[in-house]
Order: sequence, then C-alpha cells, then structure tokens
Amino acid sequence: MTQWTIQRLLTWITDYLTKNDVDAPRLSAELLLSHVLGLKRIELYTQFDRVVNKEHLDRLHDLVRRASRHEPVAYLIGRTEFYSIEMEVTPDCLIPRPETELLVQRAIEFLRTRSGPQHACDLCTGCGCIAVAVAKGFPDAKVTATDISDKALAVAARNVEKHQIQDRVELLCGDLFEPLVPHLDVTQWDLITCNPPYVSAAEYEKLDKNVKDYEPRLALWAGADGLDVYRRICASIDRFLKPGGALLLEIGYAQGPAVRELLDATALFAETVIERDPNNNDRIAFARRRETPV
Ligand code: GLN
Repeated sequence: MTQWTIQRLLTWITDYLTKNDVDAPRLSAELLLSHVLGLKRIELYTQFDRVVNKEHLDRLHDLVRRASRHEPVAYLIGRTEFYSIEMEVTPDCLIPRPETELLVQRAIEFLRTRSGPQHACDLCTGCGCIAVAVAKGFPDAKVTATDISDKALAVAARNVEKHQIQDRVELLCGDLFEPLVPHLDVTQWDLITCNPPYVSAAEYEKLDKNVKDYEPRLALWAGADGLDVYRRICASIDRFLKPGGALLLEIGYAQGPAVRELLDATALFAETVIERDPNNNDRIAFARRRETPV
C-alpha cells in the first residue's frame, strides 16, 4: 500500500487544484496541509517524509474537495495574513486583499507627519484588518472602527484581542458614521479610512466564483455604479474629519476620476491624490482637508 507522505500529498493536492483552476495551487496546498497537521508551512519541508495518518487524510480530503470548488482557502483555514499580521477571517467578513496594504501604508505615513496622539477611524472595518494594522503600525493612534454587521465586528473583536490592542481600538456597530455621532462632543478624527463596498451591479455579476459565491455581498455590492458608499461618505465627512486631517479610501480599478469628482465637490480638501496599485489599477484616494475653510 502506498503511504501518503507530506511530500506526496503536496504534489497531489497541487495537481488536483491546478486541474480545477484554483488560484495559487501550491500555496493553497501548503496552507491546507499545514492547517490540518497543525504545522507551520516551513515545517512541511522539514518533515517531508512524514506519513500522514487516516484521520488527517480524511479532514484534508474534505478541505481539498471544497477548495477545488473555489471555496476560499482563507475561509477553510479561518485565517489569512495581512500587512504581515495574522488575521482571523470567517465568511461573515471580506477576506483582506494584498491591495489594501497600500492603504495601510499611506495611513501610517500620514500619521507620522503629525505630532501627538492621533485619532483614527476605520469605517466598514469588516474583520478589522485596517484598524488592527494601523494601530499596530502607529502606537500613538487610537482607532475607532465601525461596521454595520455585528457578525463581522465579532471577528474584528477577536482580531483586536489576539493582537492585544483592546486599549487602543474601539469597535462600534452601526451604519458608516452613525455610531460616531455620540463621540463628536469629545473629538473629530485626524484620519478616516474606509475600504467600502465598491463593486457595481454589473461587475458584481461577473465576479470570480470564489468571491461571488462565498464572500458577503454586503461587503462588495454598492449600487448601479459602485459609488453609493463614497457618495454617503462625502455627504457626511465634514462633521467628522478634523481640519488638516485626511480621508483615505480604497477604490475600484477604474473609479479614480469619479471618486476625485465626488471629493472635489465637497470643497473641503486642499489636496486629492488618486494612486494606482502595482497592477496599474486605481486603488487609493487620499484627500487632505484644508486647515481653514475657504
Ligand atoms: N477588491 C475587491 C474585489 O474585487 C472588492 C473589495 C470591496 O468592494 N471593498 O473582490
């Protein structure tokens, strides 16, 4: 009888996922196998000849079958890495994308240009990836993070706890700015970040199966042109952003001109920058508020 060693399994799973058109088949195979065996990925390579027992093989078989039907590996193993930070994820929240790391980088760079403790706010926080990465990357920041989904916020709460930043990250459930209103007596925010839903109705229908069939529609779909949430943010930002503070939005691959127009129409900002990601798609809108109204 052939024995299933780690090495043979990795080859077999990689081939199987490749045949089923799954993205990053080798990485997915390593993530699934290391998850089932309770090992770090590197340890798979130091234990290449280890024979995997029947119980582990059964669990693996189930996960590989689900992955081959395009269920995201991050959901299957319950975690992903974002900005080099391990984040728990569940199907209640969007899986953090590498493109969003650019927003975190720009957020931290902006906070570093300022002095004293900074109040940041992250709207539509989902699993809390931006809030946690900003809080960890800028120890002088207090972060208020909001989301309309209490299920997503429960995941964010576990991520905040896992990274021991409960004293600097507050999670509030509600629609966009609404849960911030009671705090307005005390503060406005130096930085407001948001990776909102921004997929248009037509694009939503064309999303990859792993996204459309498994990730929350609430975190993706944003009306006929995908700009609904940006419009609502622009309509309310005046009350919440400090003079000199910045708004940083993640945007869709071709939304730069439309979002710039919405930001300019507020007449609040001294500077608006649209930035592209390494795939040359529009990805970030940065808008710095004037110190004094015009
Ligand atoms: N970039 C994501 C996707 O294409 C969408 C994220 C979002 O709507 N915030 O799947």
